[in-house]
Amino acid sequence: MSKNNKNGEEKELFWADQLAQQIVSREKFHYIDKKIPKFDVFTIRTSASLSGILHIGRLSDTIRHDTVYSALKEAKVKAKLIWVAEDMDPLRKIPSNVPEEYEKYLGMPVTDIPDPNGCHSSYADHFKADYFKVIDEFVSAKMEKFSMREEYKKGNFNKYIKKILEKADEVREIQNRYRTNKLAKGFIPWKPICENCGKIITTNVKEFSNGVVKYQCKDYEFETTTAIGCNHKGENDPLKGNGKLLWKSEWAVEWARWKVACEGAGKEYQVPNSAFWVNAEILEKVLNFPMPVPFFYEHLMINGEKMSASLGNVVYPRDWLEVAPTELLKFFYNKRLMKTRSFSWKDLPVLYDDYDAHMDIYLGRVKLDNKKEEQHMKRLFEISHGNEINPSGISFSHAAMVSQISPNEDDIVKSLEKTGHYNKKMHDMIFKRINKAKIWLSKYAPEDVKFTVQEEVPKDLKLSSKEKEALHLVVKALKEKKWSEKTLFEEFYNICNKVGIKNTDFFRAAYNVLLNKDRGPKLAPFILALGEEKVIRLFEKA
Ligand SMILES: [Zn+2]
Ligand SMILES: [Zn+2]
Repeated sequence: MSKNNKNGEEKELFWADQLAQQIVSREKFHYIDKKIPKFDVFTIRTSASLSGILHIGRLSDTIRHDTVYSALKEAKVKAKLIWVAEDMDPLRKIPSNVPEEYEKYLGMPVTDIPDPNGCHSSYADHFKADYFKVIDEFVSAKMEKFSMREEYKKGNFNKYIKKILEKADEVREIQNRYRTNKLAKGFIPWKPICENCGKIITTNVKEFSNGVVKYQCKDYEFETTTAIGCNHKGENDPLKGNGKLLWKSEWAVEWARWKVACEGAGKEYQVPNSAFWVNAEILEKVLNFPMPVPFFYEHLMINGEKMSASLGNVVYPRDWLEVAPTELLKFFYNKRLMKTRSFSWKDLPVLYDDYDAHMDIYLGRVKLDNKKEEQHMKRLFEISHGNEINPSGISFSHAAMVSQISPNEDDIVKSLEKTGHYNKKMHDMIFKRINKAKIWLSKYAPEDVKFTVQEEVPKDLKLSSKEKEALHLVVKALKEKKWSEKTLFEEFYNICNKVGIKNTDFFRAAYNVLLNKDRGPKLAPFILALGEEKVIRLFEKA
């Protein structure tokens, strides 16, 4: 979708604005020929399973749904963001930080399992608390939060459960259209909780009649483990809240109950036989409500690999906040939906630079010839940064560099003043960034960006006479006048020409004298940041 701006140029909308327009303007159901009733509020739903650990990959859902919410609000319509804890889902696998004896709870709804740490009323509550601690930092909306376990208990789905069970045949037919292994007649999309052992994954439903299902509790095989069934035979009334709908029906019921207008999902749901589309069809045909407008996205990869505890590459929200602000993660997730989002700690400065470049465009400091791109960059920045913009005035790489020049705040200020990076008004923002850069250096930075400024010329350093001559010419130049990064950089090349050495040899010599390494930060800004006196003293002795 596109919209003309005043210059008559085609203006491509940012993905969330595009989606908002689609949500507000659509008129018909997708699967049936029916007009969509008017929405008073456009509700966006996002959810989280509580069976695993909360890492930054899991925040992608919340952040992206929040972005759609912001886009709707800015389109001047009423919008709401709801967050649903999938706490009726059974425990399928014991996460690495949970004791092994929890095996006995496999297959039980996570709300009914005790807290492994003993600090909350249940396993689900413990992990929910984890979420709530961080989630509000990463979203702008005031989310309404729901628990599936509670919704079932309160009977809030009953109206829809009844319909689903009455029309179980139609539900089965819809599902079978997408299945090679067909569901048999008599299929009931309901899972009771076993009244004897409390497990939900182990109950096999036999029949549904007179408003109750009959079931038997049997072993359930997971990929590598088994949830042990107790063999109990029992009856369950689906309207009493002690059970759940199967996933392909449950999602539809949630959409109907909360009148959901939009929901996104990982890209694996984009294929036509996914639970998303099956539920969408059930929703429209059985529950008579229009399917939510979907959007699909890639999952986060770390260094090209999936995040997992066993690979030891899990990034927790608190790890992120140590080295980067919330808006940087939002920016990262909002930038693209469908291109694989691989992240690696060593590239954090690149992400910061990208963010800063968007900020410069947003603030009008930089203009682009391509107005479409400029508009897009502004919007991406605007929707990601939150209400307050706090430019720091120094790049993350520069912050990392100056933090290694001196541990002392006054010295760093002096260096920043000299290179024109200091502004008293920005003092706090500058040091916030420097402090994050310090942690990044100590935990994640590649070796080649770390350095120690030498106090003396390294003893065993052997330089050629031409290299020495070049360094002495730098000394002469530094004594002669004040240089800018640009003019000093150009002077290096003049010197190399004059002496007749390769640029690479010159730089290597300089870094070896200053840092006892072959490489270092960009030399011209580095020399200015370090202070000419120090450089002169070391180069003179070389
Ligand atoms: Zn706890
Ligand atoms: Zn049982």
